[in-house]
Amino acid sequence: MKTQEIKVDGYERVIEADLGSHVTSIIAVHNTKLGPSLGGCRFYNYVTREDALTDALRLSEGMSYKSAMANLPLGGGKSVIAGDPQKVKTRELLEAYADFVNSLDGLYYTAKDVGIELEDLDIIEQKTKFIKGTSAKNSSGDPSPVTAYGVFQGIRASAQFLWRTNSVKGRKVIIQGLGHVGFELAKHLIEDGAVVHACEINTEALNYACKNYGIIPLDINGWQTTKADVFCPCAMGAVLDSTSIPMLANNGVQIICGGANNQLLDVLKDSQRVRETGMVYAPDYIVNAGGIINIACEFGGYSASRAIQMTSKIYDTTLTILERAKKQDKPTAVVSLEMAREKLGLA
Ligand code: NAD
Repeated sequence: MKTQEIKVDGYERVIEADLGSHVTSIIAVHNTKLGPSLGGCRFYNYVTREDALTDALRLSEGMSYKSAMANLPLGGGKSVIAGDPQKVKTRELLEAYADFVNSLDGLYYTAKDVGIELEDLDIIEQKTKFIKGTSAKNSSGDPSPVTAYGVFQGIRASAQFLWRTNSVKGRKVIIQGLGHVGFELAKHLIEDGAVVHACEINTEALNYACKNYGIIPLDINGWQTTKADVFCPCAMGAVLDSTSIPMLANNGVQIICGGANNQLLDVLKDSQRVRETGMVYAPDYIVNAGGIINIACEFGGYSASRAIQMTSKIYDTTLTILERAKKQDKPTAVVSLEMAREKLGLA
């Protein structure tokens, strides 16, 4: 397989491989100070090679901070396969990807991300041992319910910080994206007594959730126009920007806490914007760490109860960040970044 090393400042290794059939893959290893890098593989139809590289770099850096802040013995890495999974995904291609992962000899462990299904992992697993979160018997399986549980802990901590109660009983919450994480999160919120509204492009999933769980449907842009106390982005990244942040504040939103990765379009500018409105932003990679915690529990023998117990600590970590940000008069995302970089010796 043809591979080439790409030199990128601040990253330990970035390698690009030709998987055949005109499909390339990039593995980005950001930092392995705390352990081998682990992060999912995203199979996505990027417009340009630069887009694929940028995504791999951004996501792998995020994984370093996520694992460090969750106190896991893991580093940050991520891989992307550039192509339309519906059109170019074949067994041969996934096997070539497994060979590519093997070429790093354990510096990077792969897992599931957007565009990769559990069946794909099963194929990859036949050719590499550097893989986690598969459907194998001793594996941790779908991380989404644990991720949702962690996001719920982040919301409870934010409520404690702001309202002096760690419950959202009677509060109006909007979830954007009722997928694997959003739907599980909705169940926790409803059980806690919240009134849950949701936007979802998949009308079948939305109708099911509304009919069976009493969730109130919103149209796709309803999260920007509807009054609420809490907003939970659980779909895509970059939803918090100079347009949406004032809209959310005008709608009375006081807490932003959701499962999506990279919610702030510009981490420094947009976290400052959120702070100026008085809304509380619980940093994404702090509250959505349940998934990686669940996967990390595979090292040394998976235990579901240990994963939940470790994920429940997201409550304390979130509260610490919110309180420190208030004391230091800084955006929460900045405080969290400073703490993570200090743990990695990058401060
Ligand atoms: P998913 O694909 O199951 O769910 C996303 C849902 O959002 C889908 O149902 C999709 O139809 C919907 N959606 C997409 N665009 C939308 C829009 N504009 N408005 C409303 N709905 C929209 O994915 P998931 O596993 O639930 O992950 C959700 C987010 O959380 C992603 O950003 C993911 O990277 C992040 N995340 C997931 C995990 C995990 O364990 N699954 C862990 C950490 C972070």
